[in-house]
Amino acid sequence: MMKSKSLLIIFILAIDVLVFSGCAGAPGKFARTREQMGTFVTITLYSSSGRRADAAIDAAFAEIEHVESVMSSYRKDSELNKLNAAGADGFAASDELFEIIEKSLEISELTEGAFDITVGPLVAEWLIAKNENRAPDAVALAEAEKRVGYKKVMLDHKTKTVRFAEPGMRIDLGAVAKGYAVDRAMEALMGKGIESALVDAGGDVLAKGKKPDGRLWTIGIQDPRAKSLESTILNVENMSVTTSGDYQRYIESGGRRYSHIFDPRTGKSSDCVSATTIAPTAMRADALSTAFCVLGPEKGIEVAESLNGIEAFIIDVDGKTYSTTGFSIFVVPEE
Ligand code: AMP
Ligand code: MG
Repeated sequence: MMKSKSLLIIFILAIDVLVFSGCAGAPGKFARTREQMGTFVTITLYSSSGRRADAAIDAAFAEIEHVESVMSSYRKDSELNKLNAAGADGFAASDELFEIIEKSLEISELTEGAFDITVGPLVAEWLIAKNENRAPDAVALAEAEKRVGYKKVMLDHKTKTVRFAEPGMRIDLGAVAKGYAVDRAMEALMGKGIESALVDAGGDVLAKGKKPDGRLWTIGIQDPRAKSLESTILNVENMSVTTSGDYQRYIESGGRRYSHIFDPRTGKSSDCVSATTIAPTAMRADALSTAFCVLGPEKGIEVAESLNGIEAFIIDVDGKTYSTTGFSIFVVPEE
């Protein structure tokens, strides 16, 4: 156990080194990967200065680290966990925690409650079951479901206080925090004068600008249950592409899959295979991908079509694909 952990650390150290490719004078490509927010974050950018590239990437990783310290459910001392502990007593939140909660509640309204950051009690049950390698307990989930509901989060805009209407509620930002962190990382890069970059936090991707040769950034989305490695390639500029699904985090028990994504209206795991969203910000793309997973293909596409600047691509359990009409504009044709 110790040995594999130390090997992992060596691997991470080895890849957290600035990788440069290019020729003198012309902007070169720089990339670095680091383990953050429970995944691997890769930052790729073009710059004519190695020093500027290095400083920009440092600033971006520091920003992600900061977001994690505020929004993590896993860190006991995160601001979010302090807010959850205060619960029904109310908690005066920082501007950024208040803002992400406020925006998340707006997305709940847009998605008919499919996206709901108050799924915390359901996620807690799911995590216990996962640790014990068994299906989540239906009775415990039904009990937890009583403490779920975004309408029971009370916001005081003047004092930035967040209060739960009932004790035992819990906010979980697992479906938006990574996207939010990606947006913040990109702002940090731009603040250091970078104009062309790609931030990828385990599949939550944001592309800024074009490459120096005028080409767009490409992002691949894979069909998670397909046997081949075939994927759909997208070309985007100043857009985020994010995918949610049950292919990475699930419990398999009694021939069934229990996804980590819940339908907050029923308290049951969603059957979603994969939902990809294209949106102007990674926070929105992240939140909506989770919502489209819960809504399922037909309703998910219908909601996506009703939203400005949003495209979606959904794969169902039979491998059938569904997409918004504007999605194909971003797809690179196969050669
Ligand atoms: P994502 O991978 O972005 O789809 O986020 C999934 C994570 O968000 C889960 O691991 C839970 O922590 C949380 N979550 C699960 N279901 C929902 C939901 N319906 N709305 C908001 N967050 C959710
Ligand atoms: Mg999400």
